[in-house]
Amino acid sequence: MSKKNTRNRTKYIFVVGGVMSGVGKGITVSSIGKILQARGFNVTAFKIDPYINVDAGTMNPTEHGEVFVLKDGYETDQDMGNYERFLGVELDRDNYMTTGLVYKSVIEKERNLEYRGRCVQVVPDIPREVIRRIKSSVAKHAADIAIIEIGGTVGEYENILFLEAVRMMKIENPADVITAIVSYVPTPSKVGEMKTKPTQHAVRTLNGTGIQPDIIVARADRPLDEKRKEKIATFCNVHTEDVISAPDVESIYQVPLNFEKDNLSDILLKKLGLSSRKRGLADWEKRVKRIRNAKETVKIGVVGKYFKTGDFVLSDAYISVIEALKHAACEIGKSLELTWIDSTDFEEKQSDLKTLKQYDGVLIPGGFGSRGIEGKIAAIRFCRENKIPYFGLCYGMQLAVVEYARNVLGIKDAHTVEADPKTKNPVVDIMPEQKENLRQKNYGATMRLGHYEAVLAPNSLAGKAYARKTVLERHRHRYEVNPEYVEQLKEAGLVFSATSPNGVLMEIAELPVKKHPFFLATQFHPEFQSSLIAPHPLFVAFLKASAGKKKQ
Ligand code: GLN
Repeated sequence: MSKKNTRNRTKYIFVVGGVMSGVGKGITVSSIGKILQARGFNVTAFKIDPYINVDAGTMNPTEHGEVFVLKDGYETDQDMGNYERFLGVELDRDNYMTTGLVYKSVIEKERNLEYRGRCVQVVPDIPREVIRRIKSSVAKHAADIAIIEIGGTVGEYENILFLEAVRMMKIENPADVITAIVSYVPTPSKVGEMKTKPTQHAVRTLNGTGIQPDIIVARADRPLDEKRKEKIATFCNVHTEDVISAPDVESIYQVPLNFEKDNLSDILLKKLGLSSRKRGLADWEKRVKRIRNAKETVKIGVVGKYFKTGDFVLSDAYISVIEALKHAACEIGKSLELTWIDSTDFEEKQSDLKTLKQYDGVLIPGGFGSRGIEGKIAAIRFCRENKIPYFGLCYGMQLAVVEYARNVLGIKDAHTVEADPKTKNPVVDIMPEQKENLRQKNYGATMRLGHYEAVLAPNSLAGKAYARKTVLERHRHRYEVNPEYVEQLKEAGLVFSATSPNGVLMEIAELPVKKHPFFLATQFHPEFQSSLIAPHPLFVAFLKASAGKKKQ
């Protein structure tokens, strides 16, 4: 649609955060992207993470949330998943950068004499490298509009060099760069009034970096009234219509529609000197309505371990899984009821396993290490023996194979080498090339990562759900089902319904529907490729089976 962009230049929208983290910058970026895409523009999105980690692969999911894997295998921040899900595009490694990555490349260039012997300085060389990366990514995606999220909140040391990059870009191309700040507007219960002061401070702090926001997205537990909008406008130096109300919503997919209630796409296009008559959010709206109108619920229990942080329970580590379940629930017109179950509970009290009966389906997502895995294995056994629909993802597949080997094949000490490096029966083993990585302590970005092809068995549960012969799915693992045990497992009734094209790697394990209503587990992560508009077929099949159990 670059025709619409009369001057044919890419436009940039930077999104920064104020007051506090966790108020939804990622969803703001995704939603702004969605509404502009619906106006006919080619949109790309970009995340800047202020961490020193070179990529997100080495960050603890309890602290930083899920590691989202791109098709090219890059391990990134969970927000990249939101962008892909909202925009329906596939992003790549160029759409993500951390402080660590930027410094690493500047230092490498310096070592290669690419700065021709001059002094290399934090300013301007770091922001210049940031700008270079943004521009080269945008050129690759031939984007009309690039939306760039700067992690953290204004006023932190960590993102100051990225804000400097925004300032420099604005000076260079004033007509092509705008900034939105996503701020929080609290209503303290004792005061009973919505307070704009924290937002005023945040904007003033942003002003101190030389940036005036063009748009203020005011996150709050309720919609902003006109009075608050006017107050923010006056004190923060913007027009009242540039203050966008972003109240809490039941579904994040409502956010683009809410933004349009405040005419955000028109406002943005005007500021960017663009125009378009197209409006294409109808499909989206239809699905959001379906979520809202769903009456019957499907109860899914997720058995994992990355939930607890101090006294709080966070589910950010499994965000793509949650969203994929929601997409599938919407597809079958049901509402999703999710429960987090800590697998260590089953280790402490075997009798708790019975509580799994209250769920229509149980899912075990990816994971690492040995904590809580006996609890997961016990849960898988319970689901298998009690015909509760079971869906395993990555570790959830490997442990399903361990469980089958132990309790059906009778190999009592079967295990994954990850949890028991000395096991005599390594039914899940390390891949040979991975052994060397671990020996050399070469942990970062060295797993089997990104998309790989799998060949499906046509008459299997998986083959029917996908209704295709091959699929490309995203991976993130070091261990594999050991080929030496595959024949025995098959003879004992486990079906490997997808393998790598050379037949060596087992990509999906399942039980025949005659024996179990739904028992299926994937070595890959289907959750990374699901969206509201195109729900993932395996998640849909799992939810259909779960909804079916309820009826019985
Ligand atoms: N820990 C397992 C492995 O490395 C599974 C990884 C995962 O669940 N993402 O192979």
